[in-house]
Order: sequence, then C-alpha cells, then structure tokens
Amino acid sequence: MIVVVGAGAAGLMAAIAAARQGPSKIKILLLDSRQKIGAKILMSGGSRCNVTHVRVTPQDYEGGPRHAVKHVLEAFTPTQTIEFFEAIGVPLVLEPTGKYFPATHSGKTVLEALLAEVERLGVMLKTGISVAEIKKTGDVFCLKGSDNHFEIAAKRVVLATGGLSYPQTGSDGAGLDIAKTLGHSIVRTTPALTPLTSTDEDWRSLSGVALDARLSFFESGKKRADRAGALLFTHFGFSGPVALDISRFVSGADPKNQFEIQASFLPSETEESLKKTWMRAIVRYPARLVRNFLTDEFSLPARFVSTFLRKTALDGSVTLKRYSTVSRGCLIHALLNCPLAVTGVMGYQKSEVTSGGVNLKEVKAATMESKIVSGLYFGGEILDVDGRIGGFNFQWAWSSGTLAGRSAAESIRRA
Ligand SMILES: Cc1cc2nc3c(=O)[nH]c(=O)nc-3n(C[C@H](O)[C@H](O)[C@H](O)COP(=O)(O)OP(=O)(O)OC[C@H]3O[C@@H](n4cnc5c(N)ncnc54)[C@H](O)[C@@H]3O)c2cc1C
Repeated sequence: MIVVVGAGAAGLMAAIAAARQGPSKIKILLLDSRQKIGAKILMSGGSRCNVTHVRVTPQDYEGGPRHAVKHVLEAFTPTQTIEFFEAIGVPLVLEPTGKYFPATHSGKTVLEALLAEVERLGVMLKTGISVAEIKKTGDVFCLKGSDNHFEIAAKRVVLATGGLSYPQTGSDGAGLDIAKTLGHSIVRTTPALTPLTSTDEDWRSLSGVALDARLSFFESGKKRADRAGALLFTHFGFSGPVALDISRFVSGADPKNQFEIQASFLPSETEESLKKTWMRAIVRYPARLVRNFLTDEFSLPARFVSTFLRKTALDGSVTLKRYSTVSRGCLIHALLNCPLAVTGVMGYQKSEVTSGGVNLKEVKAATMESKIVSGLYFGGEILDVDGRIGGFNFQWAWSSGTLAGRSAAESIRRA
C-alpha cells in the first residue's frame, strides 16, 4: 500500500499519479487531518485559483538547488498541467499577466475535478485523520495517530503535509516534525508571500493607493534581491504582488543583520532616461508644475505624489523651467531609490507560502524519494522551495506531487 499524507494540491496529485502509474492491485490511501480538504485550492487567487503560469523557470523559485527544481518541473511541466486539467474537465484560460485560471474562474471547479479523479481511480480518501508519527521497521512504515487511535502499515509513504502558512487550513507544521524525526534536516522556515509591515504614518496614510514599483532588498548594505510589480499601500504597511514577492527576504534576514528596502516608483526608468524625459518636458511645457509633471507624464497617483514630495522635502510647486538642476537630481534619485521603513512581515496567518522546509538536497530530484529513508517521498510546500506570486507554488505542488506519486508506484511495480 502507498499512503499519501496530506490531501492538498501536492497530495491529491501524488495519489492520482500513483493510481494512474501503479499496478491495478496496488492500494492507495490518501489521508488528511481536516474534515474538509482543499482549503487552499478554494481560497487561492482570490478564490479563482491561479493554477499555473505561462512561463515557469527554476529562477521563479527560491530555496533548494535550482538544478533540482528544474528537474522536478521538467518531470511534469506547465503544459502537462494544462493538459491534465483539460482532461479532467477543467479547461484553463490564460490571462494577459501570464497566469492560468480555470475557465470557470472558480477554485471549486479545480478541487471538485481532482476529487472526482481520485474517486474514479479508486483511491481511498480518509479525512479527519491526523498522522502524528511515522516509523520504519525493515521495509514497512507504521503511521500512527496522536492518541494511538490508529496504526497503518505501508510500503511507501508520500509526505505532502504542506508548510506552516494559513495553519487553519491544516498545514500546521506537523509533517515537518515527522520528517525531522525520520532524520531529515529542516531549512529554517519563515513566512513568505506575505504583506510587509511599517510604522511610517505617511505611507500608511496612502492606504488604498496602488502603483507599479520595484523593491530592492539590502542586507548589511548588500543588495540581495529585487522584484517588480504592483505595490499597494495599506493601513499596516505595504501589500500587492511586489511586496509579497520580496517578503521572503525580509522574514528570512539574519536577525543580527540590518536590512533595508528601497523602492523605485518608476521601475521601467533609469536616472538617464528620466533626465532625458525631463529635459524634453522643460522645452515643451516650461510652465508645468513639477508635481503635475509627475502625475501627468508618469501617471503617478496625485495622493502619492504629494506625500512623496512632503516626505522627501522636495518642492513640487515650482515650474519645470525654474526647477534647479540640483533639485531635479535629488528628485530623480529619490523616485528611483526611496527607502521604505519596513519593520517586518505579517505572520503565517497571512502568508501564502512557507519559505524553508525539508532540505531539498536530501531528496532525489529524479524521483522525490528521500536519500535518507528509502520508500519515503515528498511533494509540495513541505519542501524547501517557494515560488513567486503567479501560479508558481501550485505548479511546484503539481510537479513534485506527481513525480512523488508516480515514483512511489513505479518502485512498487519494480519490486
Ligand atoms: C490565501 C492563499 C492563496 C494562494 N493562492 C495561490 C495561487 O493563486 N497560486 C499558487 O500557485 N499558489 C497559491 N497559494 C499557495 C498554494 O496554495 C500552496 O503552495 C499549495 O496549496 C501547497 O500545496 P501542498 O499540497 O503542498 O500543501 P497544503 O495545500 O497546505 O496541503 C497540506 C495538507 O496536508 C494536511 N496535513 C497537514 N498535516 C497533516 C497530518 N499530520 N496528517 C494528515 N494530514 C495533514 C493539511 O490538512 C492539508 O490539507 C496560495 C496560498 C494561500 C494561503
């Protein structure tokens, strides 16, 4: 028997792949601690479920070695994902952002189709079953519940219990403890894809304003990452895709080190290009006020421009013609390198994914089998891999879950 622990995106795919791959007499048991499963599929992408992305590369992920991530993604690609969902009755549609959603724009369709496929393949799904302990004696795994109310024997186990984010959905870290007990090392876990907090009242007063930005993360003075996308000012700090994407670096920063976030509020501009645009504008509209130039030429929101000018102590009520070269230089520099006072991140309660997890170096990328315990496989967010926003985390779950289930079944077939 193959037991898949965790019936989220990765576990459902592992069970389906194992059932499709394995000899027909092989039993597949899919367990989940929650009575109602698939909470993250239902709540994802604003309940529309961003299933995958048009272009998925290892560079879209952080955590374990990129060559291993590449191997796993190639084993079950986004194209195969799209075909898989189409075949189970969920055609996906591509949005201009590169994100794929179900044509119904409902995560419920995705979950229902996966559950129907699980049932069609004869996978035994048991909900409300929380695995607390897994031990291996000889060739056999023994899975136990917390109060020893059940014991299950299995030849192969796929651990797909997720990370620590949104623990109310069932991913409370129990699987990470089990992996540790079985001898795996856990790369430090922190919340990722989560909003940034700030005590800066000026920025917080812009709550509701959104614009495109690039955020750069510096640790001990060294630039470690930058990400671009929409930035949303909120009453607690910063949200929107770019804030979420950079959050893993903030939460993962060494507490001993200083970190800083700088924003470019004109992410497609450089100092040179801005200067050129400005010089052209002086000739064409010499009497235009600097603050109007910023809103009209670059579509920056007026509320943002007035707060930005106040914070940087730069005068926006001067005409372009009369603006001094020094002031122009300062303003351009501040627009492209503005420090944001970030105090930290929202916790796991608001983080879409977990950074860190089971060390990917201890897992065979060709099969997802543990290098430490033979017959044990991993899939999904439990592993030390986290993707950026845009369907990349589900793609990791579909790819790694499929590979784990397929390999577990294949190894039984070969035995
Ligand atoms: C609000 C939100 C929105 C998101 N939107 C998107 C999106 O649009 N696109 C995208 O790509 N990603 C998105 N993500 C991320 C994505 O949902 C996750 O990366 C993905 O669901 C991880 O799948 P998983 O199967 O590895 O883990 P999970 O979905 O967390 O599933 C783990 C399962 O294991 C079960 N379990 C845990 N411990 C035990 C145990 N001891 N015994 C038995 N069962 C156990 C849990 O109950 C749970 O059902 C979003 C996440 C959140 C929280």
